[in-house]
Amino acid sequence: MVVENWNKISLDGVKGILWDLDNTIYIYESVHKIAYQETRKTALGFDISESQFDAFWKKSRDIVHNQLHGQGASHSRLLYLQKLHEFAKGFTSSEFGLKLEEVYWSTFLNSMKVREGALELMNNARLNGIEMAIVTDLTAQIQLRKLEKLSLNQYVRYMVSSEEAGVEKPEPAIFQLALDKLNLKPSEVIMIGDSYEKDIKGAESIGIKAYQIDDNTI
Ligand SMILES: [Mg+2]
Repeated sequence: MVVENWNKISLDGVKGILWDLDNTIYIYESVHKIAYQETRKTALGFDISESQFDAFWKKSRDIVHNQLHGQGASHSRLLYLQKLHEFAKGFTSSEFGLKLEEVYWSTFLNSMKVREGALELMNNARLNGIEMAIVTDLTAQIQLRKLEKLSLNQYVRYMVSSEEAGVEKPEPAIFQLALDKLNLKPSEVIMIGDSYEKDIKGAESIGIKAYQIDDNTI
């Protein structure tokens, strides 16, 4: 069930918190939109129109998702962009892929902001000596950049990415890897995330109490 207020998340007896990152610690959709639009604008310089960009981004993303289903790289913007150029122009352009990936992520990183409720909860947890880890689907490189940009290293001891785990949420193995790093049992931790299918069901499948938040959680 979605908690409507961050203060509904009880830390009583909790020794560890597993945090989802994307759309939990910051709001994803608005940030993605800004990054996407900036990237699409940059593609104009490669003679790819906005409507071509929209159509081929969607097509490329769907193919990469399907081909790499269950792996961190299934969300790789670099792979989407490489394919996008291949569809639009009929060849691989390293310049296009690398440049636009950087435009996307640098714009994205500069637009992110930690949600107030999440920040308050992390501060509370830290004061109470509660250990924290990020459990996140995507490749390590970009997720580590997000951690740095959001200054989360001062709160969380560990990160587990799906690239590292070799599986994505809701697979139990990715949660287990985080528990192993923290040296804690399922009954000693809670999970906080925005996705019922990935975060909540995944955590509960190995006996971790889970709280679902959404964009409206205050
Ligand atoms: Mg999420």
